[in-house]
Amino acid sequence: MTKHIFVTGGVVSSLGKGLTSASIGMLLENRGLSVRMQKLDPYINVDPGTMSPYQHGEVYVLDDGSETDLDLGHYERFTHSPLTRDSNWTTGQIYKSVIDKERHGVYLGKTVQVIPHITNEIKDCIKRLATEDVDVVITEIGGTVGDIESLPFLEAIRQFSLDVGKENCVYIHLTLVPYLKAARELKTKPTQHSVGQLREIGVQPDFIVCRTEQPISQEELAKIALFCNVPDKCVVEERDADFSIYQVPLDLVEHKLDQMIVDRLGLTKAKALDLTKWHDLLRRLRRPENEVTIAVVGKYAKHKDAYKSIYEALDHGGIANSTNVRILRIPSEDAEREETRALLEKVDGILLPGGFGERGVEGKIDAVKIAREYEIPFFGICLGMQCAVIEYARNVLGLVDANSTEFNKDAEHPVVCMMDSQRSIVDMGGTMRLGAQPTSLLAGSRAAGAYKSLDIMERHRHRYEFNYQYRDQFIDGGMTIAGTSPDGKLVEVVELDDHPWFVAVQYHPEFKSKPTVPHPLFRAFIAAAVRHRRGAKDSKTNEVQDDEY
Ligand code: GLN
Repeated sequence: MTKHIFVTGGVVSSLGKGLTSASIGMLLENRGLSVRMQKLDPYINVDPGTMSPYQHGEVYVLDDGSETDLDLGHYERFTHSPLTRDSNWTTGQIYKSVIDKERHGVYLGKTVQVIPHITNEIKDCIKRLATEDVDVVITEIGGTVGDIESLPFLEAIRQFSLDVGKENCVYIHLTLVPYLKAARELKTKPTQHSVGQLREIGVQPDFIVCRTEQPISQEELAKIALFCNVPDKCVVEERDADFSIYQVPLDLVEHKLDQMIVDRLGLTKAKALDLTKWHDLLRRLRRPENEVTIAVVGKYAKHKDAYKSIYEALDHGGIANSTNVRILRIPSEDAEREETRALLEKVDGILLPGGFGERGVEGKIDAVKIAREYEIPFFGICLGMQCAVIEYARNVLGLVDANSTEFNKDAEHPVVCMMDSQRSIVDMGGTMRLGAQPTSLLAGSRAAGAYKSLDIMERHRHRYEFNYQYRDQFIDGGMTIAGTSPDGKLVEVVELDDHPWFVAVQYHPEFKSKPTVPHPLFRAFIAAAVRHRRGAKDSKTNEVQDDEY
């Protein structure tokens, strides 16, 4: 019998429910259990694929090509739970499938209502993951208790314990316990209210995880327990991780949350924890031997979640090289400014992430030029690769008006153009070239060396491509085509041989990096940045201060 854990959040959003859910998943997996992870998002969009990164942060792409919530990135980084389209459902998708069924006459003339039709649909999405081989399904409910749009989801998880038995379900509620500076006190009232609201809906949490900046005293924990109707030990403090999110599982273990969940669900086959690997990676993070500064030049650099997986993957590259990676987030429009250019010349690596639309593209192209001319390790990803191609065409091949047709339809040299397969598509949602696709690498290339393989699978999300017609011109002009689709038609990786490390890829390697298994290209990029740093003639002039940006 599969057991279920439901994670809800209260008081405010952005509490780190995804991280907490992923940490619980990681701990249960570590104890030998088979875990599946899932997020239910109450917004009406069918998926986040069409939302601006300012609204939603990063769009996380899975192997099967689904465009999902960024919390799924935490799930993949922390656990081995296979994620598919079934791992992320939104109100939009739920309603869409209920309405489709209604049109097909599935409801046999009945009035279709939120209860039971929408709630049944939600429960079906949860049950779909509970296959025979699965011990625990962890379902995170997006949004905050009290939101109107969360109600059907909360009602569905309430009913769920009636369907499968109370003893098979655990409800975990994450709340904020704020510290009021003026009163010099932690405040438990918002937590009481939030749990009160949850109980009104009929959900009694089994555990309350309190996010806090300051330690919560036993007295305050007992107060929360009393008001929220749970035993004292079931109120768990989750302090802000001071230096790394990878510390969160260890903090939860300290409060025995994994053991309490195992006991409460009667997961008798759970083994003892073995966190050796996890402790090892935290030790590397805590005591790095080197430090590098990497500039991430992107259109959404100011939004902390827009390039979430890239920042994480850079950290993983750091872990692999025992190196502390300081990240300078540089808005691409700024890269055209003189003082930003001066800053870029001093960093140890420049990474250009993916993106859409014309704004900031010229700044990105300038950043490529700096990396190329100053021999700074360069890593281009998706739009980052396309910018690298445009820069090379303009400044090395002499194709002055080179551009992508995404930015200039009439460019004299459309070195990046829309893929043939995309030309007739008019709908926006889920229509790009998406998900895992094979790439064949060139023997002897940097990429092949990093992967230690010539055949790789990486995730894609794009509409434009390197224009095949210019291929020979680029090769003759010194750019190496280091990877293509197996039929040789789509260029997937380009490199510069006469540069210390210049690799640009059409796919998104950041989605396949884990702290325990850093992605080979991020590992190699950080290694090159460490070499660059060491090779800097006068290390003092190479110092970049965080506060410069
Ligand atoms: N806008 C570019 C394209 O559609 C790049 C996409 C991306 O960076 N994800 O091809």
